[in-house]
Amino acid sequence: MSNVLLPWILLIICIGLLILWVRFVIHLEHKNGVKKYGSEDSYLKAVEKIREESEKNKPRCPTCGSDNISKIDTLERGVSVAAFGLASGKVGKQFKCKNCGYKW
Ligand SMILES: [Zn+2]
Repeated sequence: MSNVLLPWILLIICIGLLILWVRFVIHLEHKNGVKKYGSEDSYLKAVEKIREESEKNKPRCPTCGSDNISKIDTLERGVSVAAFGLASGKVGKQFKCKNCGYKW
């Protein structure tokens, strides 16, 4: 019985450690950011500003000019490439227009 359960227990421990590690890294990054910007408040403001900047620089569809676009994320692209090989239309393309469906 314990022979069957052991790998599962190890797996659960590994996942738990991984989650702890990710939380630790996020915590460290936050702490470093706060240190860099002096205070928690200015750090959050800086993060907010960066977010706003990237909103402003949001690319638009070259075909119809709509900003209603979505980023084709690497994972989706990876799956697409794995599934359809190099014939995939998503290879080398980063964005998809939700308005006209154009990808670039
Ligand atoms: Zn478009």
